[in-house]
Amino acid sequence: MYCADCGCLVERGVVLVPCEQAECCCRSLPTVAPMETMAVRIRTALNSRDMSAFRALIAEDAVWGEGGPDDPRTCHNRNDIISNYKRLLAEGARGTVTETTTGPLGVVCEVELDWPDDARDRRGPTIFQVFLVSDGLVARIVGADDHDAAVMAVSA
Ligand SMILES: [Zn+2]
Ligand SMILES: [Zn+2]
Repeated sequence: MYCADCGCLVERGVVLVPCEQAECCCRSLPTVAPMETMAVRIRTALNSRDMSAFRALIAEDAVWGEGGPDDPRTCHNRNDIISNYKRLLAEGARGTVTETTTGPLGVVCEVELDWPDDARDRRGPTIFQVFLVSDGLVARIVGADDHDAAVMAVSA
């Protein structure tokens, strides 16, 4: 639930996402680890299809995909990544983050996919996306085959 006075996202007396306002009234409450906050931010941005909130979490030179530099499916910067997400949304793909797991290197999102039947790169229904975080921003997004592999990817 969002604090009505300052905008912090607070759950059971713990601040999940701080408001970053000078006049924060929730300062005295306990907070979660920064990676937990990152997980909530990613989940909230993706599930509300808020591409500007999502964009704010991505490093400018972030990479999405495992392909080499010539692989057209690989995104090589934030603009690529955001336009790829927007393209998928425009094609009717709907992903919902149902669960997040954090590790020292980043955040794992379990995503339930809902594609229109005629989408050309249909996958799913459940995929694991690994968001590798560095300096507080997503530096790389990779897919993982299953939950164990995803958790391994964010473990040090
Ligand atoms: Zn606040
Ligand atoms: Zn507050």
